[in-house]
Amino acid sequence: MLDLKSMTPEELSEALLGMGEPAFRGKQLFQWLHRGAKSFDEMTNLPKGLREKLRENAVLSPPRVARKQVSKLDGTVKYLWELPDGNCVESVFMRYRHGNTVCVSSQAGCRMGCAFCASTIAGKARDLTAGEILDQVLFTALDVGDAVSNIVLMGIGEPLDNFDAVLKFLDLVNRPDGLNIGMRHISLSTCGLIPGIRRLADLRLQLTLSVSLHAPDNETRSRLMPVNRAYDVEALFTACYDYFQRTGRRISFEYALIDGVNDHDWQAERLAERLHGMPAHVNLIPLNRVTERNLRPSRRMGEFQALLERRGVTATVRRSLGGDIDASCGQLRRRALQLSDKRGDAEC
Ligand code: SAH
Repeated sequence: MLDLKSMTPEELSEALLGMGEPAFRGKQLFQWLHRGAKSFDEMTNLPKGLREKLRENAVLSPPRVARKQVSKLDGTVKYLWELPDGNCVESVFMRYRHGNTVCVSSQAGCRMGCAFCASTIAGKARDLTAGEILDQVLFTALDVGDAVSNIVLMGIGEPLDNFDAVLKFLDLVNRPDGLNIGMRHISLSTCGLIPGIRRLADLRLQLTLSVSLHAPDNETRSRLMPVNRAYDVEALFTACYDYFQRTGRRISFEYALIDGVNDHDWQAERLAERLHGMPAHVNLIPLNRVTERNLRPSRRMGEFQALLERRGVTATVRRSLGGDIDASCGQLRRRALQLSDKRGDAEC
């Protein structure tokens, strides 16, 4: 079966040529797919015979809304999508002044093992296809009935651990016949897989790279993030500096402040030293409490931010949206997994 949703217009044309159809149908098909068509019958400008051929060679399997939570505070909407094979992933719709943003997952689960993160507790089930990442944006926009102008790859999974599918997804959303979302409206967050950062740098995309740092010293970072044992802080900063040099894009560093773990004065100072000479932005995140994790949010957000700013580092505290729902990464899927464990069935 063809994975039409993961294909560019050129690849669709190629596939259609192989079925004895004219190439221009590729563009029409692409447009229907990217409008969120749920069946081939909807594609009324395609001849009946072609729709029949498509039905024989491909399936359209939009994700099902397994759970949905709407924040009463700020209109944030969180979705738990069930994929055709029963795996579940999350997306979050957020309204910002600069536009509507969807946060998407890149994998079902995660194998990076960060100590504070709910997404990684049960490991990685599988990678998502480009089409499955795209569907989260399309069907979120359709469900909320509003357009999406920004995308962040900050949901479940490590985007650079699913590099090819993520890159394909970026190409797809960028297409004028699709969502037409420019690279400057896209952010990709990584835990620090250096080979992926280097591959991305070579492509010189204009997206915003966010690096989940969470500690400026190897001892703390390795404790929080096992990836640091393979790619340590020094190597990571070198890769980030090279990334900036190649792309000209300022990097955003994510830093979730955890009580007594990474919120000491010396860590703010070390961070400022490391960032010296590199245009960067530090995003301080209030730690979301995850029931399974024995880590508490820091009470020193303001002090930590002031210390950084005094040393010339731009640091902002991330505004928390969806505070009344499970809007933290991986929480909804985690809850569904626990429920299905209790019920003993395999849902999600
Ligand atoms: N794997 C990627 C993207 C997914 S996580 C990455 O590591 O960047 C998106 C962001 O949420 C990351 O910065 C991650 O470190 C952060 N995060 C995960 N769990 C969190 C929690 N409990 N509280 C605050 N931030 C968290």
